[in-house]
Amino acid sequence: MYDVMSPKAEEFISDEEIKECLAYAEANKNNREVLEAILDKAEEMKGLSHKEAITLLDCELEDLNERTYKLAERIKQEFYGNRIVMFAPLYLSNYCINGCTYCPYHAKNKHIARKKLTQEEIVKEVMALQDMGHKRLALEAGEDPKNNPIEYILECINTIYSIKHKNGAIRRVNVNIAATTVENYKKLKDAGIGTYILFQETYNKKSYEELHPTGPKSDYAYHTEAMDRAQEAGIDDVGIGVLFGLNNYRYDFTGIIMHAEHLEAYCGCGPHTISVPRLRRADDIDPDAFDNGISDEIFQKIVACLRIAVPYTGMIISTRESQECREKVLHLGVSQISGGSKTSVGGYAEEEAPEDNSAQFDISDNRTLDEVVKWLMDLGYVPSFCTACYREGRTGDRFMSLLKSKQIINCCHPNALMTLKEYLEDYASPETKAVGEKLIPEELKKITNPVVQKKATEYIENIHEGKRDFRF
Ligand code: SAM
Repeated sequence: MYDVMSPKAEEFISDEEIKECLAYAEANKNNREVLEAILDKAEEMKGLSHKEAITLLDCELEDLNERTYKLAERIKQEFYGNRIVMFAPLYLSNYCINGCTYCPYHAKNKHIARKKLTQEEIVKEVMALQDMGHKRLALEAGEDPKNNPIEYILECINTIYSIKHKNGAIRRVNVNIAATTVENYKKLKDAGIGTYILFQETYNKKSYEELHPTGPKSDYAYHTEAMDRAQEAGIDDVGIGVLFGLNNYRYDFTGIIMHAEHLEAYCGCGPHTISVPRLRRADDIDPDAFDNGISDEIFQKIVACLRIAVPYTGMIISTRESQECREKVLHLGVSQISGGSKTSVGGYAEEEAPEDNSAQFDISDNRTLDEVVKWLMDLGYVPSFCTACYREGRTGDRFMSLLKSKQIINCCHPNALMTLKEYLEDYASPETKAVGEKLIPEELKKITNPVVQKKATEYIENIHEGKRDFRF
């Protein structure tokens, strides 16, 4: 039985409910009356139910699909404006005891180079990331209680926050590690993490079990209920995701919205972010061996419908996607992107030799962070290195209220501009700096509160004079 308030995975992600919704969406994909009513509701910008969202995703009426794309763009603009938050992944260790059939870190892979960063190596990696201009990291690790116990992850977080190199600093560490206990989530919370990220991979229990035949990750319920444990431990910024390409996208699209609804109903706060990774080629992984690959068109429609269904949730896209694809989804709802990423263990400080491959997957967007920053500004976006909300305690529902009240123009916008200014002063190439210096005064004009506008202008002058780390 479907129950959004149930603590049990199989009840808040009910297979029966998903199948009923998929049948309803299929039956109504050309039903103008039903689809127009969904779009009318969506115009209120308060989200859609999973059933409405999948029906919109299935819509075959071209004029209504156009309306969906335009609305997604408007919602993005209304809640997030033109800011795009920047981050980089940092791979700590690829030791793993799981058997995930799509991931080259699976335990049976004997020829991939296994690596685990020492604290000295982390210092080198983080200094290299700071020298690029990064302020926000997503830590990545395989699951291996012997090689990567929670104590190791905590030690790494501690090391990362302590590195002060030139004007650099990592101000927010997000963590993407395997599902764990409430006790361990409490330790992560105490270590000062930003978002706890865990991808569901697929919400279909049967496929999930086939894709995860061995290891602790094979427990569907334990994995699916992880975010409830994280919230119980006090981590109120959680990030969910589906690995598109593993299972039927319609099923997983419905599942992820049900998960967001569950978190909102059961934990009192919806997910902070949704990630939309797509399966990529990797060491011994051939994405063509999986039957559920999706086209760029469907991928874009998924992003647009997610934006409409969960307007208050940030959306993340990584360098798994090409420049071209990233450009298309930026205006449909994506609010965070990575840049200059390496998916190998230790790839930032030193280029990895080809025969020494420790990477998790092939990257499609290989540009440097500086190139990505300039490209974003050329497209009319403001790249943001802001980490203020989390540092000011605006997490969970406090962040959501700020977003819902549409006050971020007087908070996130000046913060984005100030952190962009830091980037321009400390790390940008002359070309990028020239573009940014023109953009900042124009963007300052958009701040509606005159007091905030004046303060932000002063802070930006202070940054030029050498001061750092201002925030609202
Ligand atoms: N070990 C943790 C776990 O299992 O959740 C951490 C996550 S792993 C380092 C990060 C994510 O990479 C996985 O959750 C999965 O979605 C994704 N991933 C794995 N193999 C991939 C591939 N071949 N292509 C694209 N993404 C992949």
